[in-house]
Amino acid sequence: MHRRHFLRSAAAAAGLMPLAARPALATLYQTAAKAAGDLEAIRGDGRAITLPASAIKDLAASLRGPVLLADSAGYDSARRVLNPAIDRRPALIVQPTGAADVSRAVHFAAAHGLLVAVKCGGHSFSGMSTCDKGMQIDLSGMRSVRVDARARRAYVEGGTLLGLVDHEAAAHGMVTPLGTVSHTGVGGLTTGGGFGRLARTYGLAVDNVVGVDVVTADGRVRHADAQEHADLYWGVRGGGGNFGVVTSFEFQLHPFAGTVTAGEVVFPIARAREVLRFYAEWSQRAPDALYVDFVMAQPPGGKDGVALLHVCYCGDHADRDLAPLRTLGTPTANTIKAQRYVDFQRSGDYSDVRTMGEYMKSGFTTGIDERLIAGIVDGFEGHAARSTAVFTQHAGGAIGRQPVGSCAFPHRHAQHALMAAVSWKVGDDGAPHMGWARKYWATIEPLTSGFYINEVNDESRAVLNANYRENFPRMVAVKSQYDPNNLFRLNANVQPA
Ligand SMILES: Cc1cc2nc3c(=O)[nH]c(=O)nc-3n(C[C@H](O)[C@H](O)[C@H](O)COP(=O)(O)OP(=O)(O)OC[C@H]3O[C@@H](n4cnc5c(N)ncnc54)[C@H](O)[C@@H]3O)c2cc1C
Repeated sequence: MHRRHFLRSAAAAAGLMPLAARPALATLYQTAAKAAGDLEAIRGDGRAITLPASAIKDLAASLRGPVLLADSAGYDSARRVLNPAIDRRPALIVQPTGAADVSRAVHFAAAHGLLVAVKCGGHSFSGMSTCDKGMQIDLSGMRSVRVDARARRAYVEGGTLLGLVDHEAAAHGMVTPLGTVSHTGVGGLTTGGGFGRLARTYGLAVDNVVGVDVVTADGRVRHADAQEHADLYWGVRGGGGNFGVVTSFEFQLHPFAGTVTAGEVVFPIARAREVLRFYAEWSQRAPDALYVDFVMAQPPGGKDGVALLHVCYCGDHADRDLAPLRTLGTPTANTIKAQRYVDFQRSGDYSDVRTMGEYMKSGFTTGIDERLIAGIVDGFEGHAARSTAVFTQHAGGAIGRQPVGSCAFPHRHAQHALMAAVSWKVGDDGAPHMGWARKYWATIEPLTSGFYINEVNDESRAVLNANYRENFPRMVAVKSQYDPNNLFRLNANVQPA
């Protein structure tokens, strides 16, 4: 069982109409012109605005991809994100076919001051990639990967899901480190940081980005790398969607055997303290090739809870380096075996339509001490009407060997990302479940150090600013240069000076 899988998410909810099935541009163009009339929308500053039908018609005519309005086929699946508790309705959705369309859409949004949401894989827990009455730029029509094996590079379009990158790189005996669920978007994952099973060996996803094409708030398509627009290159690697829409990522690839020793060892939840204590010590002194997560999870009803260790080892000494696991005695299940990395990368995917609303709090640890163990285990409660889970994502290793200022991602000290999540049946009142999660997290939070902006939720501006640590002043400077009117604000937002 995958820790995020436990929350019963579904790729299907984020699945978007394939390009071939989309209505022809002409039809949509007519729909926009005929049915919509003028369109009620909102600006980024919250003020209401009316978009004239003629302006929408002109926008549609300037694009190769469709503009979807509320009555267009495909509108509903596009506006939705993975978390079904999020139910927002953009005034219009643009589905670009490439950087030129993104540029037109951004021009239009900037000219009208529209609220803008950018969607890649739709995994944002808090629904930052959709919005009410603004413009959603849905990148699902921009999903492709080209590998240049000789140069050890992968060129990845901005709407691609990470499984496609794993798949294409593996065909060349290579890899770049991305996240742990194959239907997560490369766009959101990478711009925020990008933790995964190989990050302790090869670094975060951001550490492997050698160049990007970005559409900035003025609608210009810019290439950014260490030489060209170096400040923009610095900012998009950890600054989330603050600086524009990345239409293409250039990733460094690493030769990779393709096989890992991976799986889970599962224990009853009654052994959670002991398993977590073992994990705290083992994960801290692990070789880089060993990635291990702790999961404590309780389904609704309070029965059959588990404490488990999720392991992915990519080194040459599996027997030796995994031997300490045996000191935990006999588990209720052990699925660890040699398997293809790309298969294990898909092991936490799910295809059933999501039925659960979700809420999550997260923070980084600098290690797991007895106080944190007590906070995690003692406060954890099952409940008749919700799933409850607390889990880690192993950091350290190569992640910590990059200087803090190497890119906008500042949390190089992290030993683990720690997350507490609740999920409940859609239609039920989520408030008591979110309330419980906030109360549980209140004991844990003081023992954490910063949080992952890709799990951003309801944090105040001051908390968000402080979370960029010493990189914050440069974030403000880069934001002021490339997005002085804060067009891209649905993210862990930094306000321009
Ligand atoms: C099931 C699940 C598993 C996860 N596993 C991991 C994991 O292993 N490692 C990890 O680090 N994180 C993980 N996450 C968190 C994940 O990194 C964030 O949810 C991330 O925002 C998802 O990216 P997305 O493109 O799918 O999301 P979206 O909801 O599409 O986008 C989120 C935000 O990213 C920005 N964005 C997206 N695409 C672009 C682009 N092309 N250019 C500029 N900005 C863009 C926008 O600001 C947008 O609001 C997971 C989340 C889920 C739900």
